[in-house]
Amino acid sequence: MTSHIMPTYGRLPITFERGEGAWLFDQNNNRYLDAVSGIAVCSLGHAHPAVHQAICKQSEKLLHTSNLYGIAVQEQLADKLAEKSGMDNVFFCNSGAEANEAAIKLARKYGHEQGIENPAIIVMEKSFHGRTLATLSATGNAKIQQGFAPLVEGFIRVPYNDVNAIEQAVELHKNVVAVLVEPIQGEGGVNIPAADYLNQIRSLCDQHNLLMMLDEIQTGVGRTGKFLAFQHNGILPDVCTLAKALGNGVPIGACLARGKAAKIFTAGNHGSTFGGNPLACSAALAVLATLDAENLIEQATQKGDAICSAFKDRLQGNAHVVDIRHKGMMIGIELDSPCTELVHAALQNNLLINVTSEKTIRLLPPLIINQQQIAQLVETLSTLIHKHTDTPYES
Ligand SMILES: *Cc1c(COP(=O)(O)O)cnc(C)c1O
Repeated sequence: MTSHIMPTYGRLPITFERGEGAWLFDQNNNRYLDAVSGIAVCSLGHAHPAVHQAICKQSEKLLHTSNLYGIAVQEQLADKLAEKSGMDNVFFCNSGAEANEAAIKLARKYGHEQGIENPAIIVMEKSFHGRTLATLSATGNAKIQQGFAPLVEGFIRVPYNDVNAIEQAVELHKNVVAVLVEPIQGEGGVNIPAADYLNQIRSLCDQHNLLMMLDEIQTGVGRTGKFLAFQHNGILPDVCTLAKALGNGVPIGACLARGKAAKIFTAGNHGSTFGGNPLACSAALAVLATLDAENLIEQATQKGDAICSAFKDRLQGNAHVVDIRHKGMMIGIELDSPCTELVHAALQNNLLINVTSEKTIRLLPPLIINQQQIAQLVETLSTLIHKHTDTPYES
């Protein structure tokens, strides 16, 4: 039978029917261990009772009104996000790409207010910012841009983890207004920059009056062992974007701003029909409350460290393992050759993993994963990696 879904995804031959914590169950009730979390979305695992109850209760009262009116849960969520992040205000939308669109528009308006007619934003090689026209133009991946020219102008690309390259670009181009960067590159291969990279970008942005804009769509909401990854550096950006884990599966995005950046948008500058509606905001409030109640952000550090040291033990001596790196529960195991077939092998062993940038196994387990599940993840995947690297041409 032909599918009526546009073939934008190469899907694995499996369909899940329900989930429970770190487990997913297929249509025949077979159980799979989820180390992907819907790509860093379901950090509280599947069917978490707090999220379930919040959206049930909210749906008894109101799903949606409009941003033409006050929305109490949206106000509460903005208060909580401001308190947890140190940022001043929030624009709510429905996805990561939309959050970055808001950030890009903020940067452009910031430039125009200073008389810069064609403002440019510095972006990184290997970055990922989304699939809308502006965000795919900001993305540092030719495959994602292929076939979609003309791209949106106004992006200057430099290598990741290279502050000098940013400085040179700023000196060369007088129209730079902002730097947009991921604290850790997710899609680009779990690339972790030098410990003071963000601090240096902060100083550079201060020096040149640029907006420091962090895409925390994958790193944010506890994934790296802090509520936001920039909190490892003791700095504050001017703009920060969130989505993925914020709603644990209920679509929500957010663009947070601070100081001068918080004063750029005025009534009529930007909007969203669904953005910040009562359903999405009540889910996000439940997520934030649960992260605290279950102490999950601290656990992200402990469990991430435990998972990585276990992998280092099990994989030590395997010359095909180039690097095992992580911050909290954002984990990359880089091999010396393409390894996407490991995703299929893992699936056959009831384990869900992801491979990004061809050679890097990316693990984004739910923060609620337990010790037994961690042991199973490490055992199953290490065995598969050893098998794969000894017999690279077998499937
Ligand atoms: C997933 C992701 C996006 C895009 O989010 P969507 O919700 O798919 O639009 C943008 N930036 C980063 C860093 C991401 O990981």
